[in-house]
Amino acid sequence: MPKEKHQSAFKLRAVPKSSDEVAPGRPEVDLCPTCLGTGIEIIEGKGARACSCRKRDLHSTLLARVRLPRRYSECHFNNYEPRNRSQEIALRVAMQLAMEYPAVDRGLLLSGTVGVGKTHLAVSVLKALTERGFGCLFYEFGTLLKEIQDSYNSDTRTSELRVLSPVLDAEILVLDELGASKPTDWVRDTMAHIINTRYNDRKLTIFTTNYLDERINERDETLEDRIGVRLRSRLYEMCRTVVITGADYRKTGSAKAIKA
Ligand code: ADP
Repeated sequence: MPKEKHQSAFKLRAVPKSSDEVAPGRPEVDLCPTCLGTGIEIIEGKGARACSCRKRDLHSTLLARVRLPRRYSECHFNNYEPRNRSQEIALRVAMQLAMEYPAVDRGLLLSGTVGVGKTHLAVSVLKALTERGFGCLFYEFGTLLKEIQDSYNSDTRTSELRVLSPVLDAEILVLDELGASKPTDWVRDTMAHIINTRYNDRKLTIFTTNYLDERINERDETLEDRIGVRLRSRLYEMCRTVVITGADYRKTGSAKAIKA
């Protein structure tokens, strides 16, 4: 299970030393100045409504559950700088998905070489959907496989559902770096289980992958080579494929930085 940070309007602070500041044994709390901790805001002449501090808390709680890696904390739609037509299309498709969900019938498969912003866009979709109140989860595929492996119990010959359940149940899931792990039978079975279960439950999944469908050089491996024919075909059904081209952004850097 993802670690959940308890968020509340009441932030506990260290108890001040001086006994005349606060009654002994009672921690001082930061109360919301609008609702004074009641969660209800009174609008004169109109009545009561849920205080905005509660919405903020809900958003922080949902965001903590997404488990975004820290290095992507600054990724948003508004700081993605498209550098070519494929990146413009990818940005538009990703924004559309984030706006139109749940009225969408397919997820996304963002494919392209390293550093073209696939994860940046996938994370931006998750953030936008979290803001809209949907439950989202991010996993880098290799990390997920490792966590499942680590939870394997050789006596019962099963892996704990504790790791897998949130992945199967998440309303919206990003699986980053599909195909990056060495494609053993176990890896393929596990991938198939996750992908098929989510497909059958009609849950939205966004994948990113560095593997393309076409070989650029003769020795290149395709996505199909990495995940197998059956899974690739399943992805055609459940996702719209968007190929992003371009140079590695990490090497070329931001256009603003270049201009400065
Ligand atoms: P990929 O998943 O395609 O390998 P990432 O999304 O991890 O690439 O991008 C690598 C880094 O470059 C990230 O910090 C990301 O925010 C940044 N980046 C990539 N493309 C862009 C872009 N077009 N505009 C702004 N930042 C970008």
